[in-house]
Amino acid sequence: MEQRREIGRHAVGERVLLFGPPGVGKGTQAIRLAATLRVPHVATGDILRTALQSHTPLGRQARAFVERGELVPDDTMVELVRVRLAERDAASGFILDGFPRTVSQAAALGDLLAVAGVALDAVIVLDAPTEALVRRLSGRRICEHCQDSYHIVSRIPRTQGICDRCGGKLIQRADDAEATVRFRHLEYAAKTQPVIDFFNRSGWPVRVVDAIGDIDQIFGRIYAAMFWRD
Ligand code: AMP
Repeated sequence: MEQRREIGRHAVGERVLLFGPPGVGKGTQAIRLAATLRVPHVATGDILRTALQSHTPLGRQARAFVERGELVPDDTMVELVRVRLAERDAASGFILDGFPRTVSQAAALGDLLAVAGVALDAVIVLDAPTEALVRRLSGRRICEHCQDSYHIVSRIPRTQGICDRCGGKLIQRADDAEATVRFRHLEYAAKTQPVIDFFNRSGWPVRVVDAIGDIDQIFGRIYAAMFWRD
């Protein structure tokens, strides 16, 4: 592999897809990558949760699926992503997090990119064993106000149940309950894992990155992987 651009000279305007099982840390890494590359973070899970909280038609349509940990139907998701990627801030790049999750969504994304005449610069696949992820997710607590993320073992807030950053109340997301987490992993294995074959078959630039380690270490691996070229 040779390097696409010098690491350290920040590339601006990259189109990156972050992919991996529930709880692998896509969101945390995506926020950081988006800030580094100065492109928007497009997270379909966040868009749906905002819609749920504000009781929009999308929120009403998606609520039951999201709370059970099931996938929202493809046509709803494809339309949501089509509209979001057409916004001006995504014109020169984006970090796509949580989409596609089915082969049909991946094919639709391929069509959207082809119509726009652009291609992905990197598909980062974050990889980690399921059991580690189940522990990580079922122990996760989220600030209901600023959405900052904590963990009952590995990131304990200074005051129990209260967000260090904004003082908001920490809650467990309905879909982080252990039984639901296990169901989300089954969904991932059945419907989302096959998307990796689609990426490879389509010649998309897949980079598999080990997602066990501390956040900085994993970010370093992702950033380095961005600059690989087959
Ligand atoms: P996340 O925060 O990415 O784990 O997403 C939370 C939930 O939103 C998932 O468990 C699904 O119910 C729904 N969701 C997010 N993205 C998608 C997608 N691309 N396709 C279907 N459902 C999705």
